[in-house]
Amino acid sequence: MTFDVIVIGSGFGGAITGCRLAEAGYKVLILERGRRWDKTNYPRKAEDKWIWNNECPEKENGWLELHTFSSIAVAQGAAVGGGSLIYANISCEATKEVFDDGWPKEITYAELKPYYDTVAKFMNVQQVPDNQWTARMKLMKDGADKIGHGDRFKKLELAVSFDPNWSYNQDDPHNVAKSKPFVNAQGVKQGTCVHLGNCDIGCEVDARNTLDRNYIPAAEKKGAEVRPLTLVTNIEPVNGGYRVSFDRLDTGQRVPGNETARIVIVAASSLGSTELLLRCRDLSGALPNISAFLGHDWSSNGDFLTPAFYPHLNPLPSTGPTIACAIDFLDRSESGQSFWIEIDAFGHMLSDDDDEPFHNVMPWFAQGVDAANGILSLHHEFLAGKPSLAMMWDIGKSRDVIETIIATHLKRSAATGGHPVVPPTWTVLKYLVTPHPLGGCCMGDTALNGVVNHAGEVFGYKNLYVADAAIIPEALGVNPSRTIGALAERVAKLIATEGR
Ligand SMILES: Cc1cc2nc3c(=O)[nH]c(=O)nc-3n(C[C@H](O)[C@H](O)[C@H](O)COP(=O)(O)OP(=O)(O)OC[C@H]3O[C@@H](n4cnc5c(N)ncnc54)[C@H](O)[C@@H]3O)c2cc1C
Ligand code: SF4
Repeated sequence: MTFDVIVIGSGFGGAITGCRLAEAGYKVLILERGRRWDKTNYPRKAEDKWIWNNECPEKENGWLELHTFSSIAVAQGAAVGGGSLIYANISCEATKEVFDDGWPKEITYAELKPYYDTVAKFMNVQQVPDNQWTARMKLMKDGADKIGHGDRFKKLELAVSFDPNWSYNQDDPHNVAKSKPFVNAQGVKQGTCVHLGNCDIGCEVDARNTLDRNYIPAAEKKGAEVRPLTLVTNIEPVNGGYRVSFDRLDTGQRVPGNETARIVIVAASSLGSTELLLRCRDLSGALPNISAFLGHDWSSNGDFLTPAFYPHLNPLPSTGPTIACAIDFLDRSESGQSFWIEIDAFGHMLSDDDDEPFHNVMPWFAQGVDAANGILSLHHEFLAGKPSLAMMWDIGKSRDVIETIIATHLKRSAATGGHPVVPPTWTVLKYLVTPHPLGGCCMGDTALNGVVNHAGEVFGYKNLYVADAAIIPEALGVNPSRTIGALAERVAKLIATEGR
């Protein structure tokens, strides 16, 4: 075996397990299909590399993949650091009640709490300081007050570094020169937030505490090797471990290669890990005994976006962290549904021009506990077509939570002088878009109701693990990254403790 551990993917699951196992003395290789980005090469212009194209990733390997199925679309990252490169920095825990049903008995809120805390500390999460409320935060608090739910408004923790002395009341507050440089706990140079409002498209002052600023450099410091532009295609058992095959994409061609390791951790995201294991079970036949449950219990996390136009609030600045607060209805007080509402933002680049169409638009965004009943499988095109990932998604059982979210959106937008537009993609087509895919290789008690056990190990395959959003068996109803991170911390801890 060339390595002790091969990790596939470098998002929340991969960066965290890779880092912790490197710290524990394992020889770790992290294989990542996406590029390594930094503020000198973030895509900015239309012709830049924004999009990841599964059909020809050797040619088009931008950092955003929009995976469209017939009934739902999924947005996800492709980069060293995974989804953290393009996410909105929200880092939050799921409620205790989420773990009451559908999880292996070992996974409870109390069990995860120390791991939640570890992730929060390592990613240096913090709330927007009270002297730096954004216009959207004020609008949201106003909305909560006006519908009689001011007590449900809460500031959220963000993986962003703030300077308590920065404020909007200064000349040219968003000038990058107002960002204070500092060196973070992992020895990486960053700067403090000057509310530029570009979180989802990469921060010019490095104020976002993304995985490539903490867990990944920490892993590399302990000897882990990260190989970007390396697309894993197969995993097969060999004597004493596994052979991982991949295509190198860095030359603009697909160049095959492989490496071996005693332990393999699949952390290619909900869709990526599920597709890879489906291919290994059903196409190459290298892992034939993976549970028949593979692909089941997929969830869109009840995500729903309702834009609202605010003609009288002109201009509504898009400055400040993309999302910073929520109105919390997770307690099922509204029509028995569990959800919360945030205000998203269009990047400053899209909304700082007086003539542009997003100028007065506030995207109200929600997550809720849906039925988690999607099924992913490999679809074989008739005749010569290549097999591709397919989704069976029956909205029926999740309709109530979405309609309750919409009703709350409408009430709150109207109360704050906005004109909400429920997208026709929902009213006509019942089509959803989610950036929070969960499940596909779910945790279970046995192979009858799961693909991996509580420790992330694949039933039937010793030392083969899944450790990312794919193992989450139920909707969380909140932004998932800290829960994925906590589960990954726990998987790594158990591997290291057991001396695997
Ligand atoms: C626009 C946007 C905003 C978001 N905002 C938030 C937020 O504010 N808070 C929050 O909690 N969550 C947010 N999310 C969701 C969050 O990014 C994901 O839940 C999280 O990144 C999932 O972690 P993961 O480890 O499962 O997968 P990922 O982070 O997606 O990492 C998987 C990695 O595996 C790589 N990969 C896939 N297949 C292969 C392969 N075959 N070979 C090699 N590498 C492979 C991918 O390129 C990727 O880098 C957001 C997502 C998007 C798209
Ligand atoms: S608001 Fe701007 S400065 Fe602050 S983290 Fe987001 S992109 Fe960076």
